[in-house]
Amino acid sequence: MRLHYIPTCLLVVKIAILLPFFTKAQEVKVGLYRSLELRTVVFKVIEGQYTVSNNDSALVTMQPSDILFVTSVADRLSSWNSAAHLGLHSTMSITATKDNSRMLIEPAYPAAPPRRYYGNFNIWLDSVNRMTLVNQLSMDEYIAGVVEAESGIKALPEFYKAQAIISRTYLLNNLHRHKNENFDICDEVHCQVYKGYGVEHKPILKAVEETKGLVIVDKQGLLITAAFHANSGGQTVNSEDVWSTTLPYLRGKEDPYYEKLNHSSWTTEIPVTQWHDFLRSRNISFDPNKPLSFQQPKRQRFMVINNQPIMLTDIRNAFNLKSTFFSIEQKGNVLIFKGKGFGHGVGMSQESAMKMAQKGKSFQEIINFFYTNVQIVDIFETTYLQNMIFETR
Ligand SMILES: [Zn+2]
Repeated sequence: MRLHYIPTCLLVVKIAILLPFFTKAQEVKVGLYRSLELRTVVFKVIEGQYTVSNNDSALVTMQPSDILFVTSVADRLSSWNSAAHLGLHSTMSITATKDNSRMLIEPAYPAAPPRRYYGNFNIWLDSVNRMTLVNQLSMDEYIAGVVEAESGIKALPEFYKAQAIISRTYLLNNLHRHKNENFDICDEVHCQVYKGYGVEHKPILKAVEETKGLVIVDKQGLLITAAFHANSGGQTVNSEDVWSTTLPYLRGKEDPYYEKLNHSSWTTEIPVTQWHDFLRSRNISFDPNKPLSFQQPKRQRFMVINNQPIMLTDIRNAFNLKSTFFSIEQKGNVLIFKGKGFGHGVGMSQESAMKMAQKGKSFQEIINFFYTNVQIVDIFETTYLQNMIFETR
């Protein structure tokens, strides 16, 4: 809990104001393995102790190395451990009863790689008998997992701090996103990628701790849409060039840090016939005998053929291209796409931000470079933001 800047005489008042935030928003409910139709899941205790409950009555206690199987059978959850079948249930919970408890979770059907998690778990079947598995844990534990999943373990502390603040801002801005499914946020790209606590990379844990409570707000003091991508290709993109919304803090700008990185440039080839099929599918009239040439020295929004504009984002999606920042030359029956960058190009370029950290830039400089006219504030000292978060949750 971060209470600096607070005079001691105000401490009692401050804690009283903050109490709803601490009791509710300090924990996050994450829907796990959401891209899978989970049928059978195996839980194995790595460390600590858990109580397995069925609709609030305790069934069994789990110790390190103990295993629990949970599978869906029609409209019920069936569970068993190495000793016995534990029965059929409509809901189940697995609650940590010791500090530092850690659980290994491995989907068995469909099979998926195991991941390691802190916190508690709730399981139920939704209206179409699909298993919902939710991990409930502290916000900062979740953010550390997201930072590792979204950016790996090779970056420097100032980058991790920027990424932690961005991921925290995203989380608090999206706590309502899966409200109808009875959890806060999912573990896929749809929200933020989260694969449990990963390898517990110490610089990431430290960056999350050192930026505790920090979020990014716009000129109006509202949480920003903290978009980020892998590599800008040398120029970031206005929000309205990719999505329909114009956001004053997501402005395209020159990015001098993008070169000589993993995703600085790319090349791909597409048969001309596929391109023609694409144009026909969009009712674009064209001369099939005229070789295509398209140059994009600066980022554009459209390619124009016979006065007909085609959104570059449509071309990117249709051909699964790494970015919209490309030029095209035709050689015989093949189109050669030469592109720069990776991702939508809006907000922070992760690779450039990593390079900025290498060049000695601070997390504040990184954030202020990629987001225009923003401020970094402490959520624990910003009561109106806490109230807004509760309203949407
Ligand atoms: Zn989601």
